[in-house]
Amino acid sequence: MAKHDKLILKMFAKVLMRRIGNIQFTYKTRKLSSKPRLAIVGSGPAGMFACNGLLRKSNFLVDVFEYSPVPFGLVRYGVAPDHQEVKNVINTFDAMFEKNRERLRLYCNVKIGQDITFDELTRGYDAVLLAYGSYKARKLGVPGCDSKNVISGSDFVGWYNGVPNAPTPDLSASNVVIVGNGNVALDCARVLSTASSGSLRISDIPDERLSVLEKTATKDIKILGRRGPENVSFTIKELREQFKIQEWDSKLEISETDLKNLIESLPKLERKKKRLTEVLVKNTGTTSGLRQCHFLFHRVPKEVVADSNGMVRELVVENTETSKTETFPCELLIYSIGYETLVLDGVPQNENKMIDMKDHCRVNMNAECPAHVYATGWCAHGPRGVIVDTQQQSSFVADQIASDFIHTRHSIAPGVDLVLNERKVPFISWDAWKMIDQQERDQGKLSGKIREKFTTFEKFLSKRLE
Ligand SMILES: Cc1cc2nc3c(=O)[nH]c(=O)nc-3n(C[C@H](O)[C@H](O)[C@H](O)COP(=O)(O)OP(=O)(O)OC[C@H]3O[C@@H](n4cnc5c(N)ncnc54)[C@H](O)[C@@H]3O)c2cc1C
Repeated sequence: MAKHDKLILKMFAKVLMRRIGNIQFTYKTRKLSSKPRLAIVGSGPAGMFACNGLLRKSNFLVDVFEYSPVPFGLVRYGVAPDHQEVKNVINTFDAMFEKNRERLRLYCNVKIGQDITFDELTRGYDAVLLAYGSYKARKLGVPGCDSKNVISGSDFVGWYNGVPNAPTPDLSASNVVIVGNGNVALDCARVLSTASSGSLRISDIPDERLSVLEKTATKDIKILGRRGPENVSFTIKELREQFKIQEWDSKLEISETDLKNLIESLPKLERKKKRLTEVLVKNTGTTSGLRQCHFLFHRVPKEVVADSNGMVRELVVENTETSKTETFPCELLIYSIGYETLVLDGVPQNENKMIDMKDHCRVNMNAECPAHVYATGWCAHGPRGVIVDTQQQSSFVADQIASDFIHTRHSIAPGVDLVLNERKVPFISWDAWKMIDQQERDQGKLSGKIREKFTTFEKFLSKRLE
């Protein structure tokens, strides 16, 4: 071997050793010096759409890390159970995993930042895509807000969607107040308003949680916005659904000034906002009847009043339109006022406490970082938008990664299998998930449901060992 070749070999070995640390050369499933490798953090729509695009455009090997015991993020644990057509997006992700078994792997029940650090990911992969959503609900932050039966919309949604080991709220309340003017508030109101009709029986709400929901005593729901009706973040489909619920009278109870402003704004609005505003205008009035849902505006929560057992009983608000204080009876308080984006340790943060982005999808890493780092979806752009918006962003990021690696044919990135094995992280693979999936579907069929979700961590983990 020529001296020059030896030198190159030595340098290559040095880089290799630095990169893989004490890796043993018994790596079973994939050889070193293989195709470029990508780690995706989060298996929600953002990560999965990007993954789908990238697999079609490149020769990447992809490992997906998911904190929950099962995949697909808010599609499983957020989207409402009466919106199964939205959840059908899972079929696309399913087909992607099945078609790409050779180069796509899933590691559920693995929390990046805890089981594996972000730094370890950047050393194990050529590229890392952050798609871990925005998963911490913003707190109400008023005196008494820690009272019993005061819960965030995401906790309530997670509970009825079967998040494992989620605490059960007390639904014996007849007066419910929901703070927030987005779709999550509408989902919570709709599920509470329709549960007792039995219409959710065929959905995928777990039996034990459905039986609690079906017995709900809710007769009065107030949906509060801190600003005026022109500022709502509802989408038209969800809004219309609330007004159509049988046996419920749902109305916007607004001042004459607000109504006049809404009507006058109509000619100036773009089409989507105009249609939404027309629905708002059409459904103004005063509610009556046995079951009522009031949309109230300009109400700013000031205090939660609890009884001697610490259970919520009233919500005190300031009406900023009349400058008066009002007190609403309330035995269940749900707040949905947005999410905080958490930035993983080691990921750069900007002054807004968001991931520091260099452009629309690349993270502003320092020059020493061994991997290219990208971010997409709610963790990158904030908790806004529906799945279609997320899909568009993810298609951009897939294009960007494919183009950044267009000339990369080989890789010495080792992945993190050895670290996972050493730490005995009980991850749930794609095959284990498919067993769970099948069992949930089979169990659901017995009672005419889409699926009967597992609701305890223990049950998920026991499947992993079968
Ligand atoms: C209650 C609710 C209802 C909705 N309903 C609809 C609807 O009907 N239609 C619609 O189009 N859109 C709906 N949306 C919006 C839609 O869910 C989002 O647009 C979309 O899920 C955002 O995708 P994402 O992948 O960025 O985040 P997510 O879906 O939240 O996925 C992020 C994933 O990352 C995982 N993760 C987080 N931290 C880590 C970590 N440290 N390590 C590993 N994994 C991690 C999470 O567990 C999660 O699975 C709804 C949203 C909510 C909150």
